[in-house]
Amino acid sequence: MPNPPAQTPDDVAPAVSELDTIVSLAKRRGFVYPSSEIYGGINAVWDYGPLGVELKNNVKRAWWRAMVQERDDIVGLDAGILMAPQVWVTSGHVGSFSDPLVECQTDHRRFRLDELPGAENLSATDLRDPGIVERLGLKCPVDGGPLSAPRRFNLMFKTFMGPVEDDAAVVYLRPETAQGSYVNFKNVQQSSRKKLPFGIAQVGKSFRNEISPGNFVFRMREFEQMEMQYFVKPDDAAAAFEEWLPRRWSWYTRFGVTESRLRFREHAADELAHYAKKAVDVEYRFPFGWKELEGIHNRGDFDLSRHQAESGQNLEYFDPATEQHFIPFIVETAGGPDRAAFTFLIDAYREEEVRGEIRVVLGLHPDLAPYKVAVLPLLKKRPEIVEICHRLRDDLARDVMAVYDDTAAIGKLYRRQDEIGTPWCVTVDVESLEDGAATIRDRDSMTQERVPIDNVKRMILERMTAARG
Ligand code: ATP
Repeated sequence: MPNPPAQTPDDVAPAVSELDTIVSLAKRRGFVYPSSEIYGGINAVWDYGPLGVELKNNVKRAWWRAMVQERDDIVGLDAGILMAPQVWVTSGHVGSFSDPLVECQTDHRRFRLDELPGAENLSATDLRDPGIVERLGLKCPVDGGPLSAPRRFNLMFKTFMGPVEDDAAVVYLRPETAQGSYVNFKNVQQSSRKKLPFGIAQVGKSFRNEISPGNFVFRMREFEQMEMQYFVKPDDAAAAFEEWLPRRWSWYTRFGVTESRLRFREHAADELAHYAKKAVDVEYRFPFGWKELEGIHNRGDFDLSRHQAESGQNLEYFDPATEQHFIPFIVETAGGPDRAAFTFLIDAYREEEVRGEIRVVLGLHPDLAPYKVAVLPLLKKRPEIVEICHRLRDDLARDVMAVYDDTAAIGKLYRRQDEIGTPWCVTVDVESLEDGAATIRDRDSMTQERVPIDNVKRMILERMTAARG
């Protein structure tokens, strides 16, 4: 597996040193806003604006394309967010989907123990040690007050189903999409007639009542996941796990993430989740350190065995070649479009000096860019020019996201598109009225090419195909 040299946060500089650079660009240009802002906001929920929803949809499409469309061994599923509560008992989430919480005895603020200064690198065993706060002399990072011993805090949101709000009506908002794939294993396998190995992919909302959310969209309480469960014969699980590592790594690099800001990190034995036999995270060098971008897990037969035992339904696979019945092992790839879109944004951001001025560019891969092309009139006072622009935009918009803008001078219009990552701008000028040609300007090289207007769309589509590789 690729193994870059960087091992500590300081070895590699982040693409952007201040997180605020991205947060303010995101707000200003309409990528991401704080939720319910006019009421003062709600912690750890963010809303995607006009450009953000395009970017996130593009990330989800790129993932679906790589994981479902381009593979004949993986099929999609869209399971409900609400599931039978027994699912979460069986999966172990009711019992053990928790983080260590400590509380300040003076201001009653609550913190996730492993995010306190001085406790970031504790082992999973230390995090369960009731004497750890005292042993390390940890204090409240806000007012220096004494902290309680850690206790486990369950991260699942609860709500009620139906008209009666009592214990019998409690249901959970799913904290992961994976369980929907496990309980549908038989349905999917039989209806799609897939033979092992095959996978089930899902993209959808998950909810976690995180103790210390933060770092913008990195850790939210409502977020989306892109998870794929790959069902294999037990003997093939270790090899399948190793195959998924480079595949998932190269998905990020294929869409532009700088290789040196990625690394793999294997979970220590005492850090493994209750279901995992082996787990490796793809980590990215965020402005706030190396953090998980995606996890790849060998879950063994834990999930299907448990669901078979608790539901009483046979979840075994019948292998016609060997005539054996067995519970498949599962290799899971678990990422999320919020963290991925955030990573693509950070990694694409650059500031360049052009003729004494700073130009901000989002060098997003064309497949991810919110708009693929902007159509700009050089003279908005000439109705013939404006009309050509609108016609061209309408034609382009049948195939790609295209935008028209005439609200500033051309230099400023280019800069605006650079800042939101639009790969190509097409400018129509007075000469276009004579020669029927327009100028295509490239975001990264800033080179300009004069082409017949009738060829613009074909050329843009060709460039998009070429960028896909
Ligand atoms: P962490 O260690 O960061 O809490 P985790 O190990 O609990 O993450 P998983 O359960 O492996 O995360 O979740 C799979 C993926 O779902 C993560 O890699 C991430 O992309 C996404 N994800 C998980 N929790 C959140 C969250 N609170 N906000 C945004 N994305 C999340």
